Amino acid sequence: MSDFDFDLFVIGAGSGGVRTARMCSQQGMRVAIAESQYLGGTCVNIGCVPKKLFVYASSFAEEFRAAKGFGWQVGETHFDWPTLRENKNREIERLNSIYGNLLDNAKVSLIEGWASIVDPHTVEVNGLKYRCEKILIATGGVPYVPDFPGSELAITSNDAFFLETLPKQIIIVGGGYIAVEFAGIFNGLGVETHLVYRGPLFLRGFDDDLRHVLKEELENHGIHLHFSTDIEKITQRENSTYQVDLNNGESMNTGLIMYATGRSPHTEGLRLENTAVETRPNGSVIVDDYFQTAEPSIYALGDVIGRVELTPVAITEGMALTKTLTTGEPTSIDYTNIPTAVFSQPNTASVGLTEQQAIERHSDDLSIFRSHFRPMKETLAGGEGKIFMKLIVVKSTDRVVGCHMVGEHAGEIIQGIAIAIKVGATKSDFDATIGIHPTAAEEFVTMK
Ligand code: FAD
Ligand code: NDP
Repeated sequence: MSDFDFDLFVIGAGSGGVRTARMCSQQGMRVAIAESQYLGGTCVNIGCVPKKLFVYASSFAEEFRAAKGFGWQVGETHFDWPTLRENKNREIERLNSIYGNLLDNAKVSLIEGWASIVDPHTVEVNGLKYRCEKILIATGGVPYVPDFPGSELAITSNDAFFLETLPKQIIIVGGGYIAVEFAGIFNGLGVETHLVYRGPLFLRGFDDDLRHVLKEELENHGIHLHFSTDIEKITQRENSTYQVDLNNGESMNTGLIMYATGRSPHTEGLRLENTAVETRPNGSVIVDDYFQTAEPSIYALGDVIGRVELTPVAITEGMALTKTLTTGEPTSIDYTNIPTAVFSQPNTASVGLTEQQAIERHSDDLSIFRSHFRPMKETLAGGEGKIFMKLIVVKSTDRVVGCHMVGEHAGEIIQGIAIAIKVGATKSDFDATIGIHPTAAEEFVTMK
């Protein structure tokens, strides 16, 4: 008989934790998972899923506009926020129960409550202590808001999913995924939307061409972009609005301020001081290639390790750890060529190297192919929107090392292209591929 109640105790039932718990249990380990808030974690409850539903909701404004040119008379439209919010909540509750069933079917013991680590082999939840051979920290992250006068008056994406009412105007602060996605969401839902970002151009780290094209697209959609600008102070006004003082000396009045300035690893209250687990200054847990911390019985993965904060990455890390723990074969994951999409309107998506990264690695041994064109739909819809596509090719090997797109369905298109990039496709392979006509995606196999 084992001295332990469980072979593995997972803290956090989000993307990474649930996958690892289920897979390890199916391989014969005795697994428990503790969750303090909601099954499915950030992605299901306050992340990818409700965000994408909101993106769908907000994109109807554009469809109504486009419809006229195709002969449709769309009458007066009216958007009802409570309907969207409640329908979204119902769908999330359905997903929560699916996650419960998945854990149940995999015979994982679900323990509801806040977990903390008592010693390297003991986890405490609701006053009960569980002895476990191994512990996995999969606690994700929480929104980070900088400290300044009035910062407590700002909301974060966590709150945006549950607003009582939509404001007339919103200021969104940040220039990353969440800021850009929510700017599109609020703008599409009819809210006057201002995006304030401290740097000269948002989406730092993405290909520069993409960032410039997206800037134009968002401005065409009516989003007010304020770059090289930051908020110094927020003051509550009498009529439920806020005065926002900017660092350029100007002030703005607004109905809501949302900060999307990154997320911090969720390690507070875990009592890591009872272990040898090491963290970086920002709180992210330090692990080796196999997700093991400095405390041999404790592992960590997903957002809390601060590598790549994406759901499919957390899941892949969970699969690798499962293999390590259940077969004894140390398994790491390949972080290169991870495709990613910002669900801006239009979408922005990328896989592989940006032009800047390609120049750093391959100097002038590069061919860059660009295409910027009006999508067929806009010919009758009469809009200004354009699609941008870019391929980065190493001349000497003909390998396509980067592929980037701004345009409708870019996320869907780049997901397919990512397979080609992953297997090392060359430009000649792209050229030898026959297109599907008429699509936007066919441009990727006809670029000259
Ligand atoms: P999480 O999913 O955050 O799960 C951690 C869980 O641990 C939570 O449920 C938390 O309640 C629980 N927990 C924490 N501490 C404790 C404790 N001490 N005891 C018990 N339980 C605890 N990624 C994409 O790939 N695509 C997207 O479109 C996308 N959109 C996003 C949109 C938003 C607004 C946000 C915020 C994130 C988005 N992400 C997206 C990122 C994605 O949600 C995360 O990368 C992913 O959820 C990380 O999974 P995880 O398992 O590491 O942590
Ligand atoms: P990001 O890291 O993407 O962006 C944070 C932004 O906030 C950056 O523009 C950063 O600026 C800015 N910022 C940071 N600190 C400050 C500060 N003190 N004052 C002003 N601005 C500041 O974080 P998000 O919060 O947007 O999203 C968190 C993560 O969640 C993402 O990185 C992504 O991994 C994941 N996610 C994925 C999505 C998807 O796959 N579609 C969607 C949403 C989230 P600077 O660049 O100058 O440092």
